[in-house]
This record gives sequence, C-alpha cells and structure tokens, in this order.
Amino acid sequence: MHNMNDRIKNILDLIKKYAKKRISHHHTVQLLAVSKRFPAQAVEDAYACGLTQFGENYVQEGVDKIQQLAHLPLTWHFIGPIQSNKTQLIAQNFDWVQTVCREKIIARLQAQRPENLAPLNILIQVNISQDPAKSGVIADFINDNRTILEQPLYIQIYKMAQLIHKQSRLCFRGLMTISEKSLPTEELALQYKQLDQIYQQLQKDFATVDCLSMGMSQDFETAILNGSTQVRIGTAIFGQRD
Ligand SMILES: *Cc1c(COP(=O)(O)O)cnc(C)c1O
Repeated sequence: MHNMNDRIKNILDLIKKYAKKRISHHHTVQLLAVSKRFPAQAVEDAYACGLTQFGENYVQEGVDKIQQLAHLPLTWHFIGPIQSNKTQLIAQNFDWVQTVCREKIIARLQAQRPENLAPLNILIQVNISQDPAKSGVIADFINDNRTILEQPLYIQIYKMAQLIHKQSRLCFRGLMTISEKSLPTEELALQYKQLDQIYQQLQKDFATVDCLSMGMSQDFETAILNGSTQVRIGTAIFGQRD
C-alpha cells in the first residue's frame, strides 16, 4: 500500500476490527492523526481522506499549520510537553491539550484561553509506566483488594481533575498516556487496563469525561482491546519522520 488513502483506510479497518473484539466497551474509537514534522500539505491530504482530528507536539510548528489551514474544519490537539512560556500560544490556537500534569499549567491555560473561543478541552497525562524520563501524573497502582477510589494514582488524578473542573475556560475530558517502548504486550496490556479502571471511575465522577487517549502506531491493537477511545497515529499514516 503506497498512498495515504490506502494507509488510512487500512488503519480505520483495523480499529474497527479490534474494537469489535472487546467484550465490555461499546464506544467507538477515534483516530487522531499525529502530523508533527510533516507539512501543512500532508494534513490537507489526510483531511481529503476524511480525517479531521490532528495532533501536534511542537507549539510553533503546530500554530503555523493551524493558521495555514484555518479554512478547513479541523480539530487540533496539543500532545507535546508543555513549557510555561508557551501556554499562551497553546491556549489561543489549539482545541485540546492532552499533556496537562502540573497545577501551574492549568492556571495559565485558564487565564490565557480567549473569551471568544469554546473552553479548552483538557486531558490529564498519566505516567502509567512510572518511567522517570516521561512526564505525567505519577503514583503507584497497587494490585491488592483495594477499590479504585483507594488507589494512590486515582487519588492524585482526582485532585487534578477537580482543579480543572473548577476552571471556567477549561473542560476536563479524560486521560492520556504514552506507553513505554519495547514493553512486553502483557505488561503493556496490564498498564492500559489499570488506566481504563481509573478512567471509568472518572466518568462516574465527571459528566464531561469521554476520552481515554492511548495507543500509537506500534501498539494500538493492545490499547483498543484494553479500553482506548482514541489512538494517536503518526508514522502509520504519514510515514517515517526525519
Ligand atoms: C509522535 C507521537 C505519536 C505518534 O507516534 P507514531 O509512533 O508515529 O504513531 C503519538 N503520541 C505522541 C504523544 C507522540 O509524541
């Protein structure tokens, strides 16, 4: 398969196939196209193939594309690490921010989201693999008989969710995680299951929660089988990045 249309069709077919294999979930799985390091033209091509949700990791690169493609009805997700001095550009240009994990960033996004735009959709990034090199809320998930409400990781996330929920210019939508590369499938599946348990509890606590963003080109089957509602795919759509 050489052209983008075939690649996207193939990914959408696989997403449907994996989603059918799940037992307990009835939601559909959204495809977020990660367009970092690819030009606006590549985004326009993906839009012509039917995609409307795009993810960017670098603020200035993302803002340039958002402005060049303002004539298209696209939804833009910021999925990179957030530096405080970049929050204003993020708040002014993006529709979603998936990588929130610090109180200071929440306050800045609230203050900087323009009044004429809809509230900024927020996902809390969770460091489910407890990888010291990654950002995200981090705490233990303990596998004993305790309830989800007693899990240290849930308690941490809940506090931050409450804070986001109180902000008038922000809308709390759920969780996102980046998996550790080269983790055995069973371990990865266990981590995704744990995050799904927390996500399902948050859905009971907050009416606006509807997004569990997990899975990339390499592991989206495992992510979908374990509860993902959105997979973030770059390479499998656009090809290798330089
Ligand atoms: C780059 C990136 C992706 C896409 O990764 P691929 O392996 O190219 O599919 C997804 N999520 C985040 C946070 C990324 O930085």
